[in-house]
Amino acid sequence: MRRLLVSVLALTAIVTGACSPGGSGGGGGKLKVVAGFSPLAEAATRVGGDLVDVQNLTPPGVEPHDLELTPSRIAAIQEADVVLYLGHGFAPAVEDAVSDARGTTVDLLEGMPLEPGVPEEGQTGSVDDPHVWLDPVLYRQVVQRVEKTFAEARPDDASTFEANARSFDAELGKLDREYRDGLTGCERDLIVTSHAAFGYLAATYGLRQEPIAGLAPDAEPSPDRLAELAALVRREGVTTIFTEELVSPKVAETLAREVGVGTAVLNPLEGLTAKEVAAGDDYVSVMRDNLQTLETALGCHAG
Ligand code: ZN
Repeated sequence: MRRLLVSVLALTAIVTGACSPGGSGGGGGKLKVVAGFSPLAEAATRVGGDLVDVQNLTPPGVEPHDLELTPSRIAAIQEADVVLYLGHGFAPAVEDAVSDARGTTVDLLEGMPLEPGVPEEGQTGSVDDPHVWLDPVLYRQVVQRVEKTFAEARPDDASTFEANARSFDAELGKLDREYRDGLTGCERDLIVTSHAAFGYLAATYGLRQEPIAGLAPDAEPSPDRLAELAALVRREGVTTIFTEELVSPKVAETLAREVGVGTAVLNPLEGLTAKEVAAGDDYVSVMRDNLQTLETALGCHAG
């Protein structure tokens, strides 16, 4: 009996020691972070560096709207120290799983200046546009929130998180300036996009967005909506219909063919393909590609 008690006490000491936050050097191993999709996973990796272990819930090549979760991913959400996700109906399965999480859960849309989104056909009531990450200015707020969350979870490592966040923030500030410069003095300001992902980006840089589908990419537009878009494209002299890699470009291509204009990929960064990951693409590199695509399509001649 006595020996058993000693063993139990020893075991308790080990377990308590392993789990307690703080202590010298931050203690407790890496912070286990689960992120809803690629831009959140990247923010976590950049801020956390080698102090965190980040799992992205959305596999490469998969589009995160209405993401379905495997049992192992649900378990990862429940066991993580920190869960970073977007609420407001962006991925309802993730929101459901988060209610059983034992760690800190952060809806990164909370506290953001959200705009009403474009409802799907047949959808009633208002919906918030979740696509904040495509505006570098709002994405900087996401990065700051991630830093604050990590610093609260691991106060001993706060200065490292702060330095990492500052370095990423400087890159995003530079990207923002490139967008402001690059999208000044353009011949056109209307972007026809595959789905309504670029509303915040458009508002920040003085563009107008006309989406083929609504807030979620899988909604098929009606023939009336397509005819309306075709007329708009002709009237505005639009040269390019934008498509995305994770969604079928069929409808966009049909529209482009009908009005005799081209198509180009404008990446909404909802997930990178396996090929993009292998090529080392990240938020900043994809956003630079997007800027070049926009400058060409809109006839921008700054600088
Ligand atoms: Zn989207």
